[in-house]
Amino acid sequence: MSKDASAKRPYQHIASRAVHAGEHQPQTGFRPTTTPIYATSSFGYAAMDEADAVFAGAVDGYVYSRHGNPTVRALELAVADLEGAGDALAVGSGMAAITLALLNDVQAGDHVLAATDLYGATTNLIEQVFGSLGVTATRVDARNRAAMAEHRPRAFVVETISNPLLRVADLPALVEIAKAHRCRVIVDNTFASPLLVNPLRLGVDTVIHSTTKYLAGHGDVTGGVVAASASRIADMRELLKLVGPITGPFDAWLTLRGIKTLPLRMERQCDNAAALADFLAQHPRVARVHYPGRTDIGSAAAMFNDHRRGGLVAFEIKDAGQEDVFRVFEAMRLCTPATSLGDVYTLVLYPPMSTHRGMADDDRHAMGIADGLVRVSVGIEDIRDITADFDQALAAR
Ligand SMILES: *Cc1c(COP(=O)(O)O)cnc(C)c1O
Repeated sequence: MSKDASAKRPYQHIASRAVHAGEHQPQTGFRPTTTPIYATSSFGYAAMDEADAVFAGAVDGYVYSRHGNPTVRALELAVADLEGAGDALAVGSGMAAITLALLNDVQAGDHVLAATDLYGATTNLIEQVFGSLGVTATRVDARNRAAMAEHRPRAFVVETISNPLLRVADLPALVEIAKAHRCRVIVDNTFASPLLVNPLRLGVDTVIHSTTKYLAGHGDVTGGVVAASASRIADMRELLKLVGPITGPFDAWLTLRGIKTLPLRMERQCDNAAALADFLAQHPRVARVHYPGRTDIGSAAAMFNDHRRGGLVAFEIKDAGQEDVFRVFEAMRLCTPATSLGDVYTLVLYPPMSTHRGMADDDRHAMGIADGLVRVSVGIEDIRDITADFDQALAAR
């Protein structure tokens, strides 16, 4: 299980790593070219000495699929490679990934800082579940430089690109302050994907992804990963064995297959998103466009691997409320109104109905989420068809 993720390979660039990293072929019998789906809960051995050595952790091998599985391991090695991590751990959902990352860093009596615009379930997990276990939390703007000195937190939880207004966190600046206060930085890198930003290379302690989104990429699997140093992942693997939110070999295999086209998909999605943002910005029915490629993100720009800024775009329909947004959504013929993101299909979402449902209008407005706000997860379709669909749907009244 300790196969070195950074071993010398005949490739080095991300498009090649996405296709080849982690792949595990059995060295006996038939030689499949892709990692098989090891649908087994336990593993047998040729001799009891071998079993004893594997159980002791003295040699590589597998015991029981809650502890590790070769298909799941292939996914972990692929993610570790793409994130530049010492190791990675695959789990059953993005929420399971955040849970393990937090369990590893905080305990009763600790304080956590949560970025104000975190994914809603993450905020609830921190405040309700960890809160009931004696962990206190404060929500702060990720740009608030005084918060660490004021709150002395054990961990700071932040997203690279936030939802739904797509604000970019300046991770290098955050890491610098956190190190001075011995605070762990846990980054949810779901919206950026490993193609755009690699937070561990910036000094962040733990990265998590909901693989449900860009990594698997096809809207057909739910999963999560944690990436960190090998020693931190080893600790989290012990937690995983006890808490148990593993992913199964079939979901791991789908995710591993999705990762092979991550660079291709992500490049197309980012380029489509940039073009859609430009199209919407000049559309007479659009009041405002939120897209990190169209705003000055200051020094945070340096943490991106290239000029691409993500496949999500948010925009406000002029003078619109829920009824108007619903008419536009119902008029869409190509784009699908649905939650989730990062799929090959273009998805549109109305945050006041979904992620920010039940929130008082004033609170929502204070967060900058207007009544006419639409979030778009741009797919890999031809941009001409995507803009044509928005154009005709925005004509609906
Ligand atoms: C979807 C999502 C999650 C939760 O992931 P699941 O796979 O649904 O558990 C966490 N963070 C972000 C940013 C997400 O988009």
